[in-house]
Amino acid sequence: MSRFWSDLVHKLTPYIPGEQPKVDNLVKLNTNESPYPPSPKVNQAITEANNEKLRLYPDPNATELKQAIANYHQLNTEQVFVGNGSDEVLAHAFLGLLKQDKPLLFPDISYSFYPVYCGLYQMDFKKIPLNENFEIEAQDYTTENGGIIFPNPNAPTGHLLKLIAIKHILDSNPNSVVVVDEAYIDFGGESAISLVNQYPNLLVIQTFSKSRALAGLRIGFAIGHADLIEGLERVKNSFNSYPIDRLAIPAGIASLQDEAYFKKSCLDVQATRTKLVAFLTEHGFQVIPSQANFVFTKHSTKNAEEIALALRERKIIVRYFNQPRIDQYLRISIGTEEQNKQLCKALKEII
Ligand code: PMP
Repeated sequence: MSRFWSDLVHKLTPYIPGEQPKVDNLVKLNTNESPYPPSPKVNQAITEANNEKLRLYPDPNATELKQAIANYHQLNTEQVFVGNGSDEVLAHAFLGLLKQDKPLLFPDISYSFYPVYCGLYQMDFKKIPLNENFEIEAQDYTTENGGIIFPNPNAPTGHLLKLIAIKHILDSNPNSVVVVDEAYIDFGGESAISLVNQYPNLLVIQTFSKSRALAGLRIGFAIGHADLIEGLERVKNSFNSYPIDRLAIPAGIASLQDEAYFKKSCLDVQATRTKLVAFLTEHGFQVIPSQANFVFTKHSTKNAEEIALALRERKIIVRYFNQPRIDQYLRISIGTEEQNKQLCKALKEII
């Protein structure tokens, strides 16, 4: 508390990101980063861009990166917005599109940054409970609203909503912007990007942080009708002219150009996920079917927080949320094959 803070700052409840430990010898399965390095082409692009031009500002519009994203998804550049990580893109969507007179709808168990943005931008929201299997029910998103947002696959559950259900939500809400936060879509989901030409109220947000192993570079993007994108540009140009720096622009483009590497990384994560789910199921855990690079799981008898602490003693960190409905669950990011073996060995000892 400080008398110098604004009233708003006094009222904020900031988001708490997963721990980034200072020591290296931990098996880090707590923030859904990629367990693999980025494509070597990305490192090469950064090396090439590491030159005297760093004294100059980057392209404020990151046009080449937008073009590369547009080409990749066979869309026009006017349908693409880029930002400093998808968190920034989300923030601009909250302020520029979702802040309306009526409340914003999102699932009760979902990305915990959503209520934080609502606090920052002083927006009303209504949480829609997931069903008893922790799934989003499309027909629950028909109450009056000023916008709708959900992650797909959902976080922290990993559950994937089918495109047909997303269409149902879009069809029932033609006057609201529907934001689909696809941070984890590349690990087995079908992207709603295929629907943007059909639905002018659909905004799809993705990130280079997970499937492209570039969490450290901060690149996120949104795809939607040119009008929605223009709304985001207006916010961005009222906030920070240069969200994507001179190293991130060529690095992002290089990542998009290495499709084989990208596909392999995603498939490897899925293969390890299958093994982990099989292990967990055999050892008394219930696992929510996941199409993400993490699983959400609960043991039949052993307390989740105790498991998390016991894993930590064995130098493995996972995410535990002390929140209603999910306080017996752990969210475990999918690691490398080797990390997965260490995790399974540790869990065997603990259980
Ligand atoms: N959306 C969801 C659902 C997430 O879990 C995350 C990662 N915390 C993000 C968006 C933001 O990722 P980034 O800012 O790294 O793109």
